[in-house]
Amino acid sequence: MTAPIDEGYVKYQSDWIQGAPPDEGIVAELDRWRAPLFEAGLIGHDDTHDVGFGNLSVRAGGEEFVISGTQTGHLETTGPEHYCRVTAVETDANRVHCTGPIQASSESLTHAALYALDPDISAVVHVHSPALWQRCRGSLPTTKPDVSYGTPEMAHEFERLWRETDFPNCRLAVMAGHADGLVSVGASLEQATEAMLALYRS
Ligand SMILES: [Zn+2]
Repeated sequence: MTAPIDEGYVKYQSDWIQGAPPDEGIVAELDRWRAPLFEAGLIGHDDTHDVGFGNLSVRAGGEEFVISGTQTGHLETTGPEHYCRVTAVETDANRVHCTGPIQASSESLTHAALYALDPDISAVVHVHSPALWQRCRGSLPTTKPDVSYGTPEMAHEFERLWRETDFPNCRLAVMAGHADGLVSVGASLEQATEAMLALYRS
């Protein structure tokens, strides 16, 4: 998503080095688990606002992860040219360092905040769904409504949820301050994706 971040916050900045695509095996797995999310409309394109939504990532050693590129939501299938490796994140400066054929999603900061919660988190799924957001806000672990995505405050909110709620077990959270936004985490892409799809089907 490219919706503007609230005034008063440092704007998202991407330090992008154009380079080789991520490993083919990683890309194939990302595309495999993206497919059912796209089919369910949890990743896609908002024609009204002409903006893509939803993204997924997988840890690629240490703090690094591979994430879908910016403005790829409309694509039915994805290839190596649509993914980027995030090599470092400066949360307080809202700055992401990434390398690949396409810039990382502007929601990389949210993904980074989730990986920082636990070394066992190896995959992150972020979707948009008005229906799930309305239904689950407040009943699933939910970040505070006055906290915008892509901010240091959101990272702290996820830490709070990880400590104080069922988030580590249910693997799902709602972002009340990010319209229609939900996240899931897992030890694998399969686990993170299945958590979201199970919610969608329930
Ligand atoms: Zn979003």
